[in-house]
Amino acid sequence: MDMGIYGKIALVCGSSKGLGRGCAEALAAEGVNLVINARTTLELEKTAKIIRETYAVEVKTIACDVTTIEGQSEILNTIGKVDILVTNAGGPPPGTWQDWGREDFLSALEANMLAPITLMKAYLPSMMDQKWGRIVNITSQSVKAPLANLGLSNAARTGLTGYVAGTARQVAPEGVTINNLLPGVHDTDRIVSIDKSVMKIEGISMDEVKARRELSIPVGRYGTRDEFGAACAFLCSQYAGFIVGQNILLDGGAVNSTI
Ligand code: NAP
Repeated sequence: MDMGIYGKIALVCGSSKGLGRGCAEALAAEGVNLVINARTTLELEKTAKIIRETYAVEVKTIACDVTTIEGQSEILNTIGKVDILVTNAGGPPPGTWQDWGREDFLSALEANMLAPITLMKAYLPSMMDQKWGRIVNITSQSVKAPLANLGLSNAARTGLTGYVAGTARQVAPEGVTINNLLPGVHDTDRIVSIDKSVMKIEGISMDEVKARRELSIPVGRYGTRDEFGAACAFLCSQYAGFIVGQNILLDGGAVNSTI
């Protein structure tokens, strides 16, 4: 299926690895030229080279921390206008409710709420002027079903979700859609590091940690970055113009709810 976005330009944040990379590759497969971002230059350049060689699209790189004002300025000074924006960054650290103070909440809000809002605000006017744009924010299943050990994520991402709910309806008349993709457990470096910490705390093997977690997912496995990327590419396609302000769970059925 041709998604009708050949030749568009997309900025995909946090995209040298994991879910962001899945989105970048799925867009590249549709002929979208990319600006990809991550903090670690070597890994970012490696990914850019692979994408250029595999999909024959243009790939620019911006190595910076997208959660800082400096990083956001670097991105905005380098790329004035995009057709597609995918926001993403690392998630906040786990813990319990007693662990987190004001500074922890401020960091989580900067990373997982204010950074995407800053980029959306910056790129929305030109998308609206050209009467076409697509924004996808990578958030988390924790927006729909809180994860007790990820209270910082639950809080910051829910704030972003509220912002998107109102804003998406204001920009939709100008041909711009904003939606959120909510990952459940996907096989990425982040999940491997979370599984490793469970392994250490509980004194069990990685295979046991994974097998136990898979039991809680109706499809019986972790998601892949390719599956995630394909959903993102569809939301960025010409066919997704009627999908506005939605929060789409990609979790293999793990969140047990009717709606
Ligand atoms: P990942 O495999 O660790 O990949 C994260 C990517 O983002 C890497 O390219 C990383 O490169 C980049 N990145 C991280 N922090 C950044 C920053 N401050 N500025 C710019 N780039 C940054 O993580 P993932 O599993 O794809 O997760 C992506 C997001 O989805 C996270 O917010 C995570 O909490 C959320 N999520 C993931 C899952 C899951 O199952 N994987 C589930 C729920 C929610 P550098 O480290 O070089 O910057």
